[in-house]
Amino acid sequence: MAFENLTSRLQNAFDKLRGRGKIDETVVNEAMREVRLALLEADVNFKVVKDFIARVKERAVGQEVLKSLTPGQMVIKIVNEELIELMGGHVAQLAVANRPPTVVMMAGLQGAGKTTTTGKLAKYLQKQNRKPLLVAADIYRPAAIKQLQVLGEQLNVPVFSLGDQVSPVEIARQAIEHAKENHLDYVLIDTAGRLHIDEALMEELKQVRDVAKPDEILLVVDAMTGQDAVNVAESFNSQLELTGVVLTKLDGDTRGGAALSVKAVTGKPIKFAAMGEKLDALEPFHPDRMASRILG
Ligand code: GDP
Repeated sequence: MAFENLTSRLQNAFDKLRGRGKIDETVVNEAMREVRLALLEADVNFKVVKDFIARVKERAVGQEVLKSLTPGQMVIKIVNEELIELMGGHVAQLAVANRPPTVVMMAGLQGAGKTTTTGKLAKYLQKQNRKPLLVAADIYRPAAIKQLQVLGEQLNVPVFSLGDQVSPVEIARQAIEHAKENHLDYVLIDTAGRLHIDEALMEELKQVRDVAKPDEILLVVDAMTGQDAVNVAESFNSQLELTGVVLTKLDGDTRGGAALSVKAVTGKPIKFAAMGEKLDALEPFHPDRMASRILG
């Protein structure tokens, strides 16, 4: 179960505040030391933790306790609010182009769940009465085109493919034309993934971006990889200017580092969370629900 360890560590920290009549600096510092360790152990970025703790302390110390809350509850309330803020504060909506189709470019390293997530996003849009087009622009991984076609069949969503001998730029260009002609309102481009970030990959993604002029560039990262996911997001963002991140595999026993650090480190919101292999296991990312889940 995701965040299990973090949740119990935080609860231990808050236990120390129970029954205290008054919050003074010593009490807050003691609890925050535990919270700090819990977050670091959950693989949250070091600087993110430092800033987070500083903000909570500043708000908690000397704060007049609301009549209805014990001092312990007050600190938990502040931690909860700051966790929500850390993850972006509110739900970040998927872009909608003024004039259809809305073009969404999906990027990510191999194995992160990019192709699956592209299918899930198509299903999510379908449920909202949108008409998505899946675009097979990952021409290097032999199975990727087939995988997208299978997803398209399952969902009854059209898949645009020109095989693996046409450049991804050309595929993207023609796919958008195809969507316009067929009144499809979302174009979801499954771009190439690699095992590692390399220059050729970034160059290709930039070329696709320049031609497709996406309304949305979503990076799919595996939450299980913790700070690595955050580092990947930072490099993709610096090269491509992402508009958002999709966190996958939140159904696994991820420690929490990626969910809690991505927004603060990259400035880009987590727009969706994937919690399973099934096609309906994709939801808009709700910072408040995630914070509640973390606090247990
Ligand atoms: P890509 O190389 O990034 O396109 O990755 P794929 O979409 O092929 O996914 C890689 C593996 O991760 C597949 O076995 C997926 O079923 C699995 N996967 C993707 N998203 C999730 C998720 O949210 N939870 C779990 N448990 N598995 C996932």
